[in-house]
Amino acid sequence: MNIALTAHDSKKELMVQFCIAYCGIMSHHNLCATGTTGKLISEATGLNIKRFLSGSQGGDQQIASLIACNEIDLLLFFRDPLTLQSQNTHEQNLLRLCDVHNIPVATNIATAEVLIHGLERGDLDWRMILNQNG
Ligand code: PGA
Repeated sequence: MNIALTAHDSKKELMVQFCIAYCGIMSHHNLCATGTTGKLISEATGLNIKRFLSGSQGGDQQIASLIACNEIDLLLFFRDPLTLQSQNTHEQNLLRLCDVHNIPVATNIATAEVLIHGLERGDLDWRMILNQNG
């Protein structure tokens, strides 16, 4: 599975802790992330992560384009609803595209935990079957 990761500044530490906790599961998948988020996670966990640009430089749009091409199976986007950043149209579009393409997405750690356990159980395997059948 292809998993995309991004987090607002105030949620980056939480994302790092999440990835440390679920490193074993995540290491079986292809990971990509926006620049700073990816750097922090790989430094803390040693996970192999393809890093895109920083969000402010267009990294979230790089992830959005992969979602539009159906190349992302799961998005973990830890956002801070109390910052103006979360009103950003690029980020709204990222979430919109997940709905357009039926991509499982978590915007907080509680949902992310449910999804990561589901991933481990194989609950998301339907995406692979769907992709194999074009
Ligand atoms: P970053 O991008 O991981 O490079 O910080 C995400 C963001 O800007 O929120």
